Amino acid sequence: MEKLDIVLYPEAGLREVCAPIPEMNDELDKLIDDMLYTMYDAPGIGLAAPQIAVQQRLIVVDISEKNDQPIALLNPEIVQSAGKISWEEGCLSMPGIYATINRPSDIVVRGMNRDGKTIEFEANDLLAVCIQHEIDHLNGKMFIDHLSGIKRTRALQQFRKQMDKKES
Ligand code: ZN
Repeated sequence: MEKLDIVLYPEAGLREVCAPIPEMNDELDKLIDDMLYTMYDAPGIGLAAPQIAVQQRLIVVDISEKNDQPIALLNPEIVQSAGKISWEEGCLSMPGIYATINRPSDIVVRGMNRDGKTIEFEANDLLAVCIQHEIDHLNGKMFIDHLSGIKRTRALQQFRKQMDKKES
């Protein structure tokens, strides 16, 4: 398995709407393994293809403590959502920035699994948060876009300051 480079905000690819995937193939199967490996290594609980510079609708998530419940979804869509949850989110493309985001707490997700089958399942709480965060990436949306004006500006300033520090 190969560790992939994670692109950082404000990389342009993070603002693009990604293309649907027509069907599963061996190349994608390898990409899923590499994405999981990269996510566990980071460490993180979710990774979307545009974060490794692949502009396709593919996400991987695993919220288990032992990294033994990987989920890979191609062309994921939220078909139902309800409830409310506030969670302090972070993002591998914006390391060091955390912000409390409000989202629906209960969702029904549909997508293709790595066997090429269409699946539909319910996700709640952290798993629901994580899946929504990753699907946002496929639509060019960052988690901080859910913040109100001043909070969003502050998060961006904090991130820029941090990146400047790293470069100098
Ligand atoms: Zn993210």
